[in-house]
Amino acid sequence: EIPTLGQLYRLQKMGPSLLGPFSHGTSAYNDRIGIIRGDITTLAVDAIVNAANSSLLGGGGVDGAIHRAAGRELLAECRTLDGCDTGCSKITNAYRLPCKKVIHAVGPVYSDLYPQRCETALRGCYQSALQLAVQNGLKTIAFSAISTGIYGYPSYDAATVACSTVKSFLGTEDGIKLDKVVFVTFEEKDVRVYNNLLPRFFPPE
Ligand code: ADP
Repeated sequence: EIPTLGQLYRLQKMGPSLLGPFSHGTSAYNDRIGIIRGDITTLAVDAIVNAANSSLLGGGGVDGAIHRAAGRELLAECRTLDGCDTGCSKITNAYRLPCKKVIHAVGPVYSDLYPQRCETALRGCYQSALQLAVQNGLKTIAFSAISTGIYGYPSYDAATVACSTVKSFLGTEDGIKLDKVVFVTFEEKDVRVYNNLLPRFFPPE
């Protein structure tokens, strides 16, 4: 069972030592991985990862929610960044959000004709976001399900890329510096997919 946001909040209020795996009530995942269902803008983690577009100037979906919650200063900072390539990420301050930083990752617009190219780009999003987190001394990071909304990436395939990229990274020298990676699901389809995949990629130690 995925904890509700209310439960997660209570866990967060108790402090990092009691945060546990975020996956309260299950032992299916190891303790550096979490999943929650809810609005990523409410999370008081070190970094949240936005599913941005290449202009970095705001859009719909989670990007719109992040800009609304962060306030206009976020857009002002994004304007100075000169966009971002697909498969890459850039970092900004978080302004009115409860997290410390926002990492803006630009996912691919999914195309059936080029699944391999899409996969490489999506992998690049997760890889570059994790790298930016470590470079900035951030220890807890929450990912939105990049590209699975307006950009049309099939949920199961996207979550497979997300899990495998995170799993590889956590095993590297840089990955050791991260305490927790949280997958934030919003829609039912993604909840099902992550519930299915996480125990397979991240069995309890
Ligand atoms: P993309 O254009 O990369 O597909 P979207 O924002 O359309 O980006 O969707 C990415 C994912 O973010 C989707 O799974 C969507 O359900 C989810 N999402 C939308 N709003 C929020 C939110 N406030 N918090 C967390 N996830 C969200």
